[in-house]
Amino acid sequence: MSRVVDKPYFTHSAYSAFTTGIQVKCPKCHGAGVVTADDDNAYFRCLSCGHRMTQDRTVYRYDVHNQCKNCGRYYRVDIEDEAKQHYSVLHVTCPYCGATMPGAVHKTAEAFSYGAEIQGGKDPWFGLELWFLTSFQGKPVWALNREHLAYLIGYLSAGLREKPPGRAKMTQADHLPVFMKTAKNRERIVKLLKKLQEK
Ligand SMILES: [Zn+2]
Ligand SMILES: [Zn+2]
Repeated sequence: MSRVVDKPYFTHSAYSAFTTGIQVKCPKCHGAGVVTADDDNAYFRCLSCGHRMTQDRTVYRYDVHNQCKNCGRYYRVDIEDEAKQHYSVLHVTCPYCGATMPGAVHKTAEAFSYGAEIQGGKDPWFGLELWFLTSFQGKPVWALNREHLAYLIGYLSAGLREKPPGRAKMTQADHLPVFMKTAKNRERIVKLLKKLQEK
């Protein structure tokens, strides 16, 4: 029986952008591109047409905070609508009394975006579709890059799966949704992944 030892949790994750890179579809030519990241920025570069993008990894919080002219309480209203974040002054509603008044929009550097999880088959910084993306019964099945694809195929086709040595509770396979690990689906999912390998 083939045996596979699983990998540590962060081996293949959004953090791969800091090491091996995440393969995505170029928004211009639909060719293969790669997303990488360092301490300050995330980068996209297309391997076919040369298109490039850079994204500041700093996450800003926008809010209006003020003393309400009606009830006298201090309030803070977060501005989550991206279109509104560019205004310097906005009319907001006091969360305590409901009075509406204008207030200056403050921009605060809050944190670095680690893009903790891949969601909806897209990279966490540019929202570009992953290059190795397919679907199984309407659910996205994807790999970050060739290394990850090979890991998935190896892991899912093995007869016996073991946790890596060490005391870590979470392992790489904990990223996988249950439908991918279910015995009755594994074989068909491995087939889909092998098809992706031909890309
Ligand atoms: Zn391109
Ligand atoms: Zn008020």
